[in-house]
Amino acid sequence: MRQSLPFELSKEQSFFDSLGDWMGDVLYDELPEKGLECRDEQIFMAYQIEKVLREKSILFAEAGVGTGKTIAYLLPAITYARYTGKPALIACADETLIDQLVKEGGDIYKLQKLLDLNIDVRLAKSRDQYLCLKRYEEAEQFMDGEYLDEIAVSIPEGVYGAGGLGLYGARSDYPNISDEEWQHVNYNYIQQCQVCDVRNRCGQTLHRAHYREATDLIICSQDFLMEHTATKESREREGQLPLLPEVSMIVLDEGHLLEYAAQKAMTNKIQDYTIVKLLDRLMVDGLREKTLLLMEKLQDGHELFFDQLRDDVIDTDDERKRIQKSPTLMKLGQKVIETIGELMEEFVFESEMYVIPEYELRMAEEFLDQYEAAMRIFVSQSNAIDWLEETDGEETLVIMPHLITEVLEKKLFSKKIPYVFSSATLSINKDFSYIAYSLGIKKYNSFSVESPFDYEEVMKIHVHELEQAEKATRVASLLEESTEQTLLLFKSKQAMQAFKDVLTDEQKATIGFEGDRELSSLVRDFQAGKLHTLSSYHLWEGLDLPEEALTRVIIVDLPFPPSDPLFDAKRSFADDPYVEVELPFMLLRLQQGMGRLIRTTNDHGTIHILMNEEELKNLPEIEPIFAVKPTFEK
Ligand code: SF4
Repeated sequence: MRQSLPFELSKEQSFFDSLGDWMGDVLYDELPEKGLECRDEQIFMAYQIEKVLREKSILFAEAGVGTGKTIAYLLPAITYARYTGKPALIACADETLIDQLVKEGGDIYKLQKLLDLNIDVRLAKSRDQYLCLKRYEEAEQFMDGEYLDEIAVSIPEGVYGAGGLGLYGARSDYPNISDEEWQHVNYNYIQQCQVCDVRNRCGQTLHRAHYREATDLIICSQDFLMEHTATKESREREGQLPLLPEVSMIVLDEGHLLEYAAQKAMTNKIQDYTIVKLLDRLMVDGLREKTLLLMEKLQDGHELFFDQLRDDVIDTDDERKRIQKSPTLMKLGQKVIETIGELMEEFVFESEMYVIPEYELRMAEEFLDQYEAAMRIFVSQSNAIDWLEETDGEETLVIMPHLITEVLEKKLFSKKIPYVFSSATLSINKDFSYIAYSLGIKKYNSFSVESPFDYEEVMKIHVHELEQAEKATRVASLLEESTEQTLLLFKSKQAMQAFKDVLTDEQKATIGFEGDRELSSLVRDFQAGKLHTLSSYHLWEGLDLPEEALTRVIIVDLPFPPSDPLFDAKRSFADDPYVEVELPFMLLRLQQGMGRLIRTTNDHGTIHILMNEEELKNLPEIEPIFAVKPTFEK
């Protein structure tokens, strides 16, 4: 049901003028009177968004930490949803940030309370955040564990008999179940929901139906938005509803991360064991011999392909490993495609014999379709980018279209609706061309407002000029000088490992290294002060530790992009790779890394940046992004 606007619409004024007046009343008077401080930068941002709603254009809204970005976009988004009769979509950087937004005490909660607004907000989580009844039933048969009992009591009566069907099966409904246990029962990409016989009673379907009815806000992750974008056409072709409904506008919270979400959603993947395991399950008694032999042939062909793939990989320490495609590898890939074709023909006969359960068979057919499509791109020598990496402990061949920008332009930004990118770091010195270029956006509005924090008062930056070989000793002596909560940032896993290798066991014991154990538990210990030094190559962004939980950031190397196949492709596409790829990537990441230090008005601390002779050559480009004048140390 459509909700009413929080203000009267008069004949004399347009909706947008009335919205402007209402936001003025709320931000200048009502919220401050009720104890919520509203900042000039925040009010400016809200009005910039109102302008974008009028124009249905794209806005890069860069607002420093502490500006109050969320309230600045929520007010226009909620009212625009009510005006258009379609919900606004907020796409957060990840699944955990979705919960942050709707938690008690969060910004949506505050607006509901202070403005007496009944906001209809619904969550659209990624598919793996929901229970899969099929996998749960399988786990029940073959596994033990208290977690299965916990799930059993959560399933409404109507799923297996007469009775009601309430919302159930979201990951957050099972706080006591570990991630490892959850991996046995959640949706995973092999499941083919469109052919599932319990689809109408599945918690995921019920949740989808629930958020489709949202009137004000739908909140999802950027990964899910991109999954929706990538699958929308094919789902519609197959007569399925798209994952998300039509929306009035899209807000991309931490919008600088959209490129990564897009890359993830647009890639095709071939994993080492998945197909082997899937075919094993189909090898049931009574199967025709020809089908059985073809399944074994496919398993063997796939294994030979992966063996050759390992031989063709260029051995480096990079996470994404380049592949030097040999003629043998191409031939093996072709053979696998042929075998899939033959097997699919046999599956037609099998479907009439009902030896393989119908759902299992349809699932295998859908899976093999996707596998074959990915293999065809791989062997076609198109300009797709491919590499080998490890995903969920399994070797995975990743194949990505060369230009995600074209896909984004065509499938996401082609709609005539407003798009708002909100983040503290979108530009390099107020120049938004790098992010616009990497997302294929040609026309946009932008603004940049500073953080309200007084950096001169609370932050110091030290640039250390030294040899590369001296860096480890310098870090060690900085750590010896003080036990304050320190984050060490490295440009890559290899760089961190090289640092670790030269430390003594005693020194190593005082530092929590990313990768030594699960990252969030490491961060928890660091935040609680059980650990004084946290060493990472991923936490350039996302880490939000206020006050005394983090008072020093040591940047050990400048975060230039890795020399992996993905960035090589970007470099090869650029006229000047240093200016168009290397430098902007490094500057954005460096800003994000420095941004970890000051998160609230009560924060203070020091940043140390260690630069060798080569890195110091970038100083003229780096200095303009410093919030305070640095001091230099030899
Ligand atoms: S609809 Fe999909 S997620 Fe739900 S039970 Fe069926 S296969 Fe699993």
